[in-house]
Amino acid sequence: MSWAAGTQCVAKGDSRRAKAGELAYRKGDILTIVNSALRKGCYTAINNSTGEEGLISSTSVREREALRVDPSLSLMPWFHGKISGPEAVCLLQPAEDGLFLVRESIRHPGDYVLCVSVSGEVIHYRVIYQDNKLTIDNNQYFYNLIDMIEFYSKNKSSIATTLTKPKQKQGAKSAELELSKAGWLMDTEKLTLGENIGEGEFGTVYEGRYMGQRVAVKIIKCDVTAQAFLQETAVMTKLQHKNLVRLLGVILNKGLHIVTELMTKGSLVNFLRTRGRSVVSFTQLLRFALDVCEGMEYLESKKLVHRDLAARNVLVSDECVAKVSDFGLTKVDWKEPDKAKLPKCSTKSDVWSYGVLLWEIFSYGRQPYSKMEVKEKVEAGYRMEAPEDCPPRLYLLMRLCWEREPRRRPGFSKLREKLQSGLLSV
Ligand code: AMP
Repeated sequence: MSWAAGTQCVAKGDSRRAKAGELAYRKGDILTIVNSALRKGCYTAINNSTGEEGLISSTSVREREALRVDPSLSLMPWFHGKISGPEAVCLLQPAEDGLFLVRESIRHPGDYVLCVSVSGEVIHYRVIYQDNKLTIDNNQYFYNLIDMIEFYSKNKSSIATTLTKPKQKQGAKSAELELSKAGWLMDTEKLTLGENIGEGEFGTVYEGRYMGQRVAVKIIKCDVTAQAFLQETAVMTKLQHKNLVRLLGVILNKGLHIVTELMTKGSLVNFLRTRGRSVVSFTQLLRFALDVCEGMEYLESKKLVHRDLAARNVLVSDECVAKVSDFGLTKVDWKEPDKAKLPKCSTKSDVWSYGVLLWEIFSYGRQPYSKMEVKEKVEAGYRMEAPEDCPPRLYLLMRLCWEREPRRRPGFSKLREKLQSGLLSV
């Protein structure tokens, strides 16, 4: 196993009697690789628990474990929803300076209340929502509650005490703690943000550097959206494949930062549209098709359904490798044998989308008809025509993906075999 700079991994055992220059760590500690050292299989790493830096051998660490996709995982475990003031006071017992929670105001719907225990009493600060921002004192303004709590945890400012201890809502699990324990939390101090490289529906994507490694960072400022993206992130911790955009970790700072490998050539659809026929060879198109197919075959093997596969959600790396991204809608394939008639969330609906994606690839990024637009026509047997100059055997593959009966559509491994034989014969 080789580790890139910035990768976080887990110590397999203890190394307490470290020689000079070697790193001391305990089993389970999260170590961040700084760089590969002079000798083969030897790395410089930082122990995230102690902050110390030293040498480790590549065999002394392992991959991080995937995070469980758990709805109780919360970015705001201190948020208790609509509860009354007296209820908040009860929850903040026994009194302890800096113990706090946030509730939704019952009297002023839409506003929040920060409740803090100080000198044996509970103080309730009304948080006003004004011009898309939150404020307690009309002096400090915040994009969201996470941002606000972060600020008052470090600065007393106009409140009576800094927030030192969150009172967690019953059943809520702190996402920060779980991410940190599993080794997926990254250090905001080690990240340098660069240019804006994309706008998504819910967040802005920046190029960045994390300990020397080029990365992409999606920043989600709205706390409700960030909470939803947490589930996507948990799915991504399970995925490791050369054709799936890889999650490197998460930073919690003024919202959620999702750090992934940088795909310098942007989305596949833009790649094809801006270059076109004269630049992108047919073999390259086949390679893209195969790349996506292999990524999807891996997803299928994990019993996961992407549900939003399209050329806009495939990104292209510096080396022109296509990788599937956007796992926001990804769900477990719930097609069990006795439920085989419910095709909505099965791999076979991804296969349909893959057929459309093939069409997008071989038409150099043309806009396909949307499923909604042609729903009735499709049900009556209508299918998109072959893209210009598309070899018949490839169009045949698309048509197989668009078989009306999901079970008659090939799986991704079958599709890969067919594509590979096509690639060999070019
Ligand atoms: P998204 O919000 O994931 O749809 O991303 C919006 C846009 O940001 C994409 O269309 C890409 O152009 C860009 N983008 C997203 N993720 C990455 C990445 N890992 N590397 C490079 N560009 C990206």
